[in-house]
Amino acid sequence: MHDVTIIGGGPAGLFSAFYSGLRNMKTKIIESHPFLGGKVHVYPEKIVWDVGGLPAVTGQQLIDHLVKQGTTFDPDIVLGEKVTSIEKIDGTFKLTTHNGQVHWSQSVIVAVGGGIIEPKKLDVKGAEKFEVSNLHYTVPSFQRFAGKRVVISGGSHSAIDWANELAPIAERVHLVYRREELKGHEASIDLLIEQGVELNEQSAIEALTANEAGTEISQVTLTHPEHGVRMLDVDEVIISHGFNRDASLLDQSPIPLERVDDFFIKGSAQSASSVSGLFAAGDILHHEGKLHLIAGAFQDAANAVNLAKQYIDPEASARAMVSSHNERMDEYNKKWKEEQLVSS
Ligand SMILES: Cc1cc2nc3c(=O)[nH]c(=O)nc-3n(C[C@H](O)[C@H](O)[C@H](O)COP(=O)(O)OP(=O)(O)OC[C@H]3O[C@@H](n4cnc5c(N)ncnc54)[C@H](O)[C@@H]3O)c2cc1C
Repeated sequence: MHDVTIIGGGPAGLFSAFYSGLRNMKTKIIESHPFLGGKVHVYPEKIVWDVGGLPAVTGQQLIDHLVKQGTTFDPDIVLGEKVTSIEKIDGTFKLTTHNGQVHWSQSVIVAVGGGIIEPKKLDVKGAEKFEVSNLHYTVPSFQRFAGKRVVISGGSHSAIDWANELAPIAERVHLVYRREELKGHEASIDLLIEQGVELNEQSAIEALTANEAGTEISQVTLTHPEHGVRMLDVDEVIISHGFNRDASLLDQSPIPLERVDDFFIKGSAQSASSVSGLFAAGDILHHEGKLHLIAGAFQDAANAVNLAKQYIDPEASARAMVSSHNERMDEYNKKWKEEQLVSS
């Protein structure tokens, strides 16, 4: 039995895990993906400027910081399990996951963001085998594409931004999209043209040809309604076709949870929901004044943990002491100083 179980391992879930450790609570995180970090995985290469205390960092660096901080107090972490139902039975929460596992908890923090998001896959036979080599659904680092012939499939803002970022360093960038015209900021489209990105309108990837070893894509087949079929030699293929979203958890759960717009959890500014013992943090929470940014998720997380602490121990203080005044931190301060000495 855990004091608190956090559903979702994004920024809100990870900061909740840190904070509940600070409050000495036995904590578990359940995350459906096999990795922590949440939606930030959508933009690992983007520079993030607006997280307090962190000067500009890439999305990936932010994930690394969030995970390091979130695991400070060694919460139990369950990866690759999607919570499919939340029930409250005799005052205890029962969480069931997609593979039939059951997790019991005294309190719950729902930090599921906009749900589980997965990139829409390229609908071409056998494409999945190249995901370990040169077929990408995100761009973790631009440097990988330096000097390469790159095909980007998609007409979204992300596809246009990636093409513009890669054009100066790649040998050649081809943008392939179904519509007649690109829909994006005018300045970004002008920049594509200025940088010599090859625009393939009304086109789609129909087939992939492997190299001799069968390990990498060496050619893509493009189709166009008037010009027919065209083959392109490539080194890297990037797909930006948007995301599928699974936000079924709250609809399927037999708890009387008040919602807003049939989606968000209607909560108080302190992260309480209409179900006692169940709290919410991050993008899934709605209240007047809610900030749908990472900075807002941190405040929700601290509030949710403080209420969860009082819910399971009514004698507990309503707030944590600041970390420097918290007795529990003494051993961690000592460990941190030792690590600093070793690294210097
Ligand atoms: C392209 C883009 C750029 C952005 N840039 C910025 C920025 O510069 N600054 C900023 O502050 N914000 C930015 N944001 C918004 C920011 O990413 C979100 O506000 C933040 O990620 C919300 O954190 P969260 O923990 O609430 O949700 P998420 O990050 O969405 O994490 C939720 C986690 O819960 C998991 N989950 C969902 N359902 C279940 C389930 N049933 N069982 C188990 N696990 C589940 C998901 O897999 C996910 O890992 C950006 C968003 C996007 C899309």
